Amino acid sequence: MSQEEKRLKLEYKADWYGRTVSAISQWFPSSKMYSNCGEMYSGKWSLAIRTWSCECGITHDRDQNAATNIHTESLRLLVT
Ligand SMILES: [Zn+2]
Repeated sequence: MSQEEKRLKLEYKADWYGRTVSAISQWFPSSKMYSNCGEMYSGKWSLAIRTWSCECGITHDRDQNAATNIHTESLRLLVT
C-alpha cells in the first residue's frame, strides 16, 4: 500500500469516527528538538542516544520527546 493510499484510508477511518487527521512534514525535527523549550540538540546526533538532558534541567526520553513534539506540531498545523 502506498503512502497516499495509507493516508486516504486513515482519513476515511478518522472521518467515520468523527476524528481529525493532521500530517506533519517528514522533515520536521521531532527527535532533536527539546519538547519543553523548543531548543535543538546541538551535539552529534545518534540513534544510540535514548535519553538526554537539556539546559532547562529536564531529562527527555527519546521516543516520548519525539511523540510530544509530533503532537504539538500537528496541533499547531491544525490551528494555523
Ligand atoms: Zn531546554
